[in-house]
Amino acid sequence: AKAQPRASFQFWSEDINTRLHDRLALEIELRQALRDDLFLLHYQPQFTFQNPRLVGMEALMRWQRTPDQLVMPSGFIEIAEESDLIVDMGAWAVLQAARQVAQWLQAGHQAVPIAVNISARQCLNRDLVQVVRLALLETKIPPHLLRLEITETTAMTDADQVIGLLREIRTLGVGLSVDDFGTGYSSLAYLKRFPIDELKIDRSFVMDIATDKDDAAIVRATIALAHGLGLKVVAEGVETEEQSRMLAAKQCDIAQGYLFGRPQPLDSITGLL
Ligand code: C2E
Ligand code: CA
Ligand code: CA
Ligand code: CA
Repeated sequence: AKAQPRASFQFWSEDINTRLHDRLALEIELRQALRDDLFLLHYQPQFTFQNPRLVGMEALMRWQRTPDQLVMPSGFIEIAEESDLIVDMGAWAVLQAARQVAQWLQAGHQAVPIAVNISARQCLNRDLVQVVRLALLETKIPPHLLRLEITETTAMTDADQVIGLLREIRTLGVGLSVDDFGTGYSSLAYLKRFPIDELKIDRSFVMDIATDKDDAAIVRATIALAHGLGLKVVAEGVETEEQSRMLAAKQCDIAQGYLFGRPQPLDSITGLL
């Protein structure tokens, strides 16, 4: 009977070791994938509600782990965010998006802004300004065709430092969106301090907008206040006609979601330009 706690302790510690080992192995594999150029961007279109017109897109990272295994962000972003790897991956995404815009412009397409997701760690890293500056310098794209998305939670961590960095980025002419709005703790009054020009209402509010009176009220108030602050509003995760109608009725500016278009590879998004 005495051996049991010990046995379970051993089991527990082996389990932890295995998990640590798995995470480390994945981190090493991700680092190698970055070197081997195995990450790619998919693009989800954003449309106006009335007479849907393409007005932007969000770049979402994918990992081509093997020729037939495409890994979604849920399979690697969290691990990458635990190390500096996310900083390098994010820098890659910014440059890749800017190069894509440049390529579309050169091919004579009507280009729309591409938004790139920026994680907290990257946002606390001063190099981000330099990364953006170099991407603009290399590609010579109009700066407003590049946008960065930071989550509300990121914006809240170490607000003063983040605000300083975001101001520098705005000065370069690059657009800034607050992502997943409503899931954190900030008020819109607080957001006034941030040099942003767009707010993205989190999918969780959009999901229940047609069935939950509270969510509908939150969305309506958020849009009204955002407009009062001069911000454009994007609704994330619009999946049904009913959600779309309600958002349009509340004067939401831009729709993003499966109803309007899924994230898609380069070739198919190019067809929309
Ligand atoms: P996010 O920034 O909130 O991106 C939106 C996510 O919602 C995407 O998932 C998109 O495919 C999904 N989505 C869009 N419309 C709908 C809809 O109508 N219904 C539903 N159910 N989902 C919808 P994805 O591509 O799997 O990305 C997940 C998250 O991974 C992103 O959430 C973002 O936080 C992170 N991520 C993706 N790419 C990057 C990146 O390049 N850098 C960083 N730091 N994070 C990234
Ligand atoms: Ca986003
Ligand atoms: Ca989001
Ligand atoms: Ca979200």
